[in-house]
Amino acid sequence: MSMKLARSVAEVRAQVNHWRAAGDNIAVVPTMGALHEGHLSLVRAAKGRAKRVIVTLFVNPSQFNNAEDLAKYPRDEAADAARLEAEHVDMLFAPDVAEMYPDGFATTVSVSRLSEGLCGAHRPGHFDGVATVVTKLLLQTQSDAAFFGEKDYQQLSVIRRLARDLDIPVEIVGVPTVREADGLAMSSRNVRLSGAARRQAPAMAEALTAAGAAIEAGQPVAAATEAARAGLLKEGYSDVEYLELRDAETLEPVSKLERPARLLAAAWLDGVRLIDNVAVLPGIGSAR
Ligand code: AMP
Repeated sequence: MSMKLARSVAEVRAQVNHWRAAGDNIAVVPTMGALHEGHLSLVRAAKGRAKRVIVTLFVNPSQFNNAEDLAKYPRDEAADAARLEAEHVDMLFAPDVAEMYPDGFATTVSVSRLSEGLCGAHRPGHFDGVATVVTKLLLQTQSDAAFFGEKDYQQLSVIRRLARDLDIPVEIVGVPTVREADGLAMSSRNVRLSGAARRQAPAMAEALTAAGAAIEAGQPVAAATEAARAGLLKEGYSDVEYLELRDAETLEPVSKLERPARLLAAAWLDGVRLIDNVAVLPGIGSAR
């Protein structure tokens, strides 16, 4: 059976009603397109969870705080649709901006605290844009489960919170980061790196992994994060926006590893902003 393509919320609703009447459950995978193996791992996880899978493709202007980043965002709907069809996705929902934000649109979903530090501090308004569009997508598709990558760990935390706070009856599922063979986290923005920068890019994953292991082995957090930051700059990154250990659940700063934590970073390479994060768990170093 071939994949359906929907452009309007009305088409999505009609199809969802049809599936519901047949007793089928539904999972959604929100994306901005330019699909890679990271996105496809979310799709495969969704296929394992629900009978019907909807993938959404919408480059959401309200989450871009930088006009150039929005203009340069890679777009190739035909290639994306072909990849999703090959994964046996049931529906691709690819609305235009007017369908998502009709004239008079005036509502913002804003998740306080979790949205404030890290990427939120450097991308004003970004998480309000994400929270608003994801809330709409969850309500439009009435999904039982929604899949998001740990690659965007703060985003995943914000979405878990908003689903809980707004009583949206959906299970939010986080999926581990898919990496290139050299460790670089897959991202639609990686195609914008020059050849030389692409060879430097894995330094972020290496620095985070090494610092995370050092912290697990008992090194003081500040010393490990400072060394990682210096390492990134030495390897060609130009500006480290943040490189911090945070609580895995609340995203509060962590100065001593006592509960599951996450080491997160954002830095610029070759005019491209890259982010990554790794888990840092207490009790591991002493067990080694
Ligand atoms: P995007 O199209 O970049 O908005 O990403 C759509 C979804 O794919 C988000 O939930 C991302 O966290 C997830 N994603 C992006 N890159 C990866 C990756 N390398 N591994 C796993 N999930 C990813």
